[in-house]
Amino acid sequence: MSEAILPGATIGILGSGQLGRMTASAARRLGYRVHTLSPDRDTPTGHLADREVTAAYEDLDAVAAFARDVDVLTFEFENVPSATTDCAEALVPVRPAGRVLHVCQHRLREKRFLHDNGFPVTPYREVPDRAALDEAVAALGLPAVLKTAGFGYDGKGQAVVRDQDELEAAWAGLGGGEAVLEALVDFDCEVSVIAARSVAGEFAHWGVVANDHRDHILDVSVPQAAVAEAVRERAVAVAQGILEALDVVGVLCVEFFLRRDGELLVNELAPRPHNSGHFSFDASVTSQFEQQVRAVCGLPLGSTELLRPAAMANLLGELWDGGEPDWSAALRDPGVKLHLYGKAGARPGRKMGHLVAFGSDRDDARRRAVAARAALGGS
Ligand code: AMP
Repeated sequence: MSEAILPGATIGILGSGQLGRMTASAARRLGYRVHTLSPDRDTPTGHLADREVTAAYEDLDAVAAFARDVDVLTFEFENVPSATTDCAEALVPVRPAGRVLHVCQHRLREKRFLHDNGFPVTPYREVPDRAALDEAVAALGLPAVLKTAGFGYDGKGQAVVRDQDELEAAWAGLGGGEAVLEALVDFDCEVSVIAARSVAGEFAHWGVVANDHRDHILDVSVPQAAVAEAVRERAVAVAQGILEALDVVGVLCVEFFLRRDGELLVNELAPRPHNSGHFSFDASVTSQFEQQVRAVCGLPLGSTELLRPAAMANLLGELWDGGEPDWSAALRDPGVKLHLYGKAGARPGRKMGHLVAFGSDRDDARRRAVAARAALGGS
């Protein structure tokens, strides 16, 4: 059993967005120091870090210098090259390990891992080239979803294809790289399980979260989803199996489609805190961000109990279309908490912040979160 990395030590975060920012906030509260490395300057994580290093993830001299300066290294962004994690792993504990990122950053590796380990996964075919695409369509039928194998998130690098014309357009749009064709799942709803595993192998989870997407981007998340008990148990068991099979140390989110017949299919894995777990920052005894710090530092995991019914609504860049939103309008409901990530450029679809609302039950909380966001105006 390895020694705990105790408060006072320095946590290094690769990536510098809002996930790192909230992890840094939790780390600082626990008394850790935080360094962040990314190609950007003046970043959401950098604002809260003791040190912000600006370097490419491929700059192995900078990565080695960064790793030597910290006691443990973690991520808030999974699209980091293996050469980078290999370089860091030679110098400092890296949690989760680079091989976890390697699997999760590439849709085909991820799907092969899920399939080979008996986890339920959306029907798919590998598409290494144009000829394979026709075979994949013959096997799965249309409509289907064509996705790039690497570097996809928030619906980027994917297109729904319903006929031959859309297929040609989608293939041309991908630019010829390795791809995956998935059956278009006629789901009842989308849910996620955010879970954590400690160095000692303890497991914790925040239950099943109901997620609504708009334009392929998460819109609203509500914990304690209204699903049958058998679905809840199955979702948590699949998540636990995945964290164990990957030997994850840290937080990992499993995103599922729940079909009308009650069957769960894994859509995606995110080996880090996840947008659908943001409610936990305000509403749980231990947030996903604090849990990430506890897990990667070898501390015991904290309780994930929900303190009160809550819901989260994302604030995307289009809210700024008419100028700076009127924040006081959203805060008129005293049960609403505002989180802004300190990003300068509000582009449409860019995650700029979120609201968490409390309520008497999950429907009331959801209503309040959506109403508070509507009070901000915007499109
Ligand atoms: P992804 O980036 O793969 O998580 O996709 C983003 C969103 O697109 C998902 O949360 C779904 O709402 C939708 N989507 C992606 N793949 C599929 C699929 N195979 N069937 C139905 N909807 C999908």
